[in-house]
Amino acid sequence: MKLFDVYPVYNVTPISGKGIVVTDDKGQDYLDFYGGHGVISIGHTHPHYVQRLKNQLDKIGFYSNVVQNPLQVELAEKLGKVSNCENYNLFMCNSGAEANENALKMASFVTKKSKVIAFNNGFHGRTSAAVAATDNPAINAEINQQHEVVFLDLTDIKGFEREISKNVCAVIIESIQGVGGLNEPTTEFLQKVASLCKENDVLLISDEVQCGFGRSGKFFGFQHHNIQPDIISIAKGMGNGFPVGGVLIHESIKAKYGMLGTTFGGNHLACVATLAVLEVIEKENLIANAEELGSYFNEKAKEIPHVKRVKGRGLMLGLEFDFQVADLRKKLIHEHFLFTGGAKDKTVLRILPALNITKQDLDVFFTTLKIALS
Ligand code: PLP
Repeated sequence: MKLFDVYPVYNVTPISGKGIVVTDDKGQDYLDFYGGHGVISIGHTHPHYVQRLKNQLDKIGFYSNVVQNPLQVELAEKLGKVSNCENYNLFMCNSGAEANENALKMASFVTKKSKVIAFNNGFHGRTSAAVAATDNPAINAEINQQHEVVFLDLTDIKGFEREISKNVCAVIIESIQGVGGLNEPTTEFLQKVASLCKENDVLLISDEVQCGFGRSGKFFGFQHHNIQPDIISIAKGMGNGFPVGGVLIHESIKAKYGMLGTTFGGNHLACVATLAVLEVIEKENLIANAEELGSYFNEKAKEIPHVKRVKGRGLMLGLEFDFQVADLRKKLIHEHFLFTGGAKDKTVLRILPALNITKQDLDVFFTTLKIALS
């Protein structure tokens, strides 16, 4: 059997990793400033994370949700405290798309409406409703196009006012767009959106799959804007590589048996991986580090020619160049052994390192970038 060939891949084969270094099968080290699409939040093979997972695997790795799993309860409590979202309840699943799929489905269950408002350049995953709410016709098949979704610009409050009363169950928004290229709504826009949702009995879903878990310099990206979404979707950095996702559901929304469900979601290993991530975020003060290093990054970026502006917050960053960056990314990987990311906006180089990188790591990043550009 061969692999179903859907990914254009770089010719690099990592076989081990430590912190922000990954090593390939030939012994070459690479500096990882991308974390495999923003997944590696506390560094590769963090000792606490590895130990936590190994210990759990020695006990039990999985049982389904027909029995008690105290690790889920422990995780919900911890996540509520660390994220300052104690007035939400947790449902666990396995990926970002699934988190958004559950969020959208629940909004429709609760409001008994069916239309979705999403935003241009947003990305919410590849499952049915999540991909329909993703502004990219190339990844929407016929079957996905049956969903009713209206796409608006992140500044279009007039359009929003016009659409919100038309059978809308949910508004889904990233407080910092990841795949799209680090565009952000303003606080004013988000607050207006949140209040119009309330007025119109529409649930506001904050897609924190990429910008959540401390990456933006606050636990959740929306927390920069003083709003309270009804549902928050999470994944990526949550498991530091273990496949895990979840939805935080405001306590005003009541659960009913059968509303949501999953076989793998919330399994013992997923819980322990997420607990380990939260413990390291707290112990190593990583949210403050993300914020501080984000400022340092902004300063250092001023020294780089061709950078039009720095986008994003904390360690969810984009360098917007005055040229398309595909060749630069290739050069950085193959000649300078440094991973970065691209975006839908072809001029943006995405930087999503582990949250425990240091100023010295960023110095190396900028020195390397200067050499690659010279
Ligand atoms: N939402 C956002 C904001 C994302 O960036 C992504 C993935 O890039 C997803 C959802 C989908 O997550 P997954 O690939 O885990 O399904």
